[in-house]
Amino acid sequence: MDTTIVLLNRDLRVHDHPALAAACARSRRVVPLFVVDPALTPYRRAGFLADALRDLRSSLRRRGGDLVVRRGDPVAETMRLAEAVGAQAVWVSADVTSYAQRRERLLADECARRRIDFRTFAGVTVVPPDALRPSGGDHYRVFTPYWRAWSVEPRRPAAAPPDVVRLPDGLEPGTLPVAAAPYGPLVGGETEGRRRMRLWLRHCLEGYAEAREDLAGETTSRLSPYLHLGCLSPLELASLGAASEEFVQQLCWRDFHHQVTRAFPAIGHRDYRARGDLWNDDENAVSAWREGRTGVPIVDAAMRQLAQEGWLHNRARLIVASYLTKCLHVDWRIGARHFAEQLLDADVAVNCGNWQWVAGTGNDTRPSRSFNPLRQAKRFDPDGEYVRRYVPELAHLPRTLIHEPWKTRTLRAYPAPLPLPETPPRVGASPRRDS
Ligand code: FAD
Repeated sequence: MDTTIVLLNRDLRVHDHPALAAACARSRRVVPLFVVDPALTPYRRAGFLADALRDLRSSLRRRGGDLVVRRGDPVAETMRLAEAVGAQAVWVSADVTSYAQRRERLLADECARRRIDFRTFAGVTVVPPDALRPSGGDHYRVFTPYWRAWSVEPRRPAAAPPDVVRLPDGLEPGTLPVAAAPYGPLVGGETEGRRRMRLWLRHCLEGYAEAREDLAGETTSRLSPYLHLGCLSPLELASLGAASEEFVQQLCWRDFHHQVTRAFPAIGHRDYRARGDLWNDDENAVSAWREGRTGVPIVDAAMRQLAQEGWLHNRARLIVASYLTKCLHVDWRIGARHFAEQLLDADVAVNCGNWQWVAGTGNDTRPSRSFNPLRQAKRFDPDGEYVRRYVPELAHLPRTLIHEPWKTRTLRAYPAPLPLPETPPRVGASPRRDS
């Protein structure tokens, strides 16, 4: 093969990149291409993405290549470039959202018309989303059987990073997007992702199972934004983290939601299992939730952490999502949209899969499950350290009152809890409290 374009999307790395590795091994010239699509609003993670692209360009330049950047419709720009450089192949990492599946279909059609080889490669998940099928179904609907099948599925070997990337002569690389606004304490990119991964595996993997639910402890990896943009390979991370089954199981959850989304690409806007919910349309309650002034300290701490850092602990996400959907009876789509705007790791499959799981419209086998915020707070933030960190108005309260400030009469600077609507969200079962 003379020239291959590798269209990069959320696989922004050189380590274990099957499409890039295959292109470099089989082609004389390789064009790593990223198309900035103005139709997509990357919200807060735009800055993280800009840093990840800058880092990838440096890595490719060190190998003699470059990251070629174009702006516009990804399919049209890829085909324009293919024509300009006389490419014989366009290769991409397969992805699962409706947007990505459509892009792959259009690319396949356009390439077929021009007799260009189009291929998709693995790389976005540990196990490819179409690799496992239950008997009689096109995807797994329940996690536990998926986990059993996933755990014994043979894995592809990790692809070595290419030593050399050779671009066609005279190709204008194009300008990178710039990070317009600060986006939180994490810095985007493969170099930083790998540094964090190594540190975390060395110091925290061993204690993960015991410490992972401690809200104040900050002991989980915080690698999710790097995994989302593919700055890290999930396959490599699963292999390096294999000593902790609990940790590997989280990566399996990520794969699980990807294979659900591949089979049900409407996950972002349509109920996976519709239950006739009647959602509560209360704009004031939604604003209070978004701004962290619901009067429930654990919810407010989490929502303020989200606003400050663009990241949240899984337990905190469960608590605020359950509070919004099962206590305030607000439509999960409103919560998922806010998360998508704020999270650095915001990912259609994982975000909406989890929101639907919590709301009871998704893959939970107990859809009426609900997390009582007070009991969750006492269990996962027993000393109130997490609340004190993000809700300074409450920092002076003792541990006996920190999660129930309404029991003190002297508090003026913090709101009373929002009144909860009495109407159940749907005719039928009432939510079962706590798990
Ligand atoms: P760790 O505990 O270190 O786990 C390692 C990795 O496993 C994570 O980086 C992540 O890729 C994956 N993982 C962990 N928990 C889950 C889970 N429950 N489901 C799927 N994958 C998981 N995660 C996202 O990456 N993007 C999202 O948009 C997102 N939205 C969520 C929305 C809600 C309502 C909930 C309840 C969870 C959501 N999660 C999302 C899953 C989870 O909360 C985060 O992945 C995790 O908190 C990231 O922190 P970490 O990297 O320290 O995780």
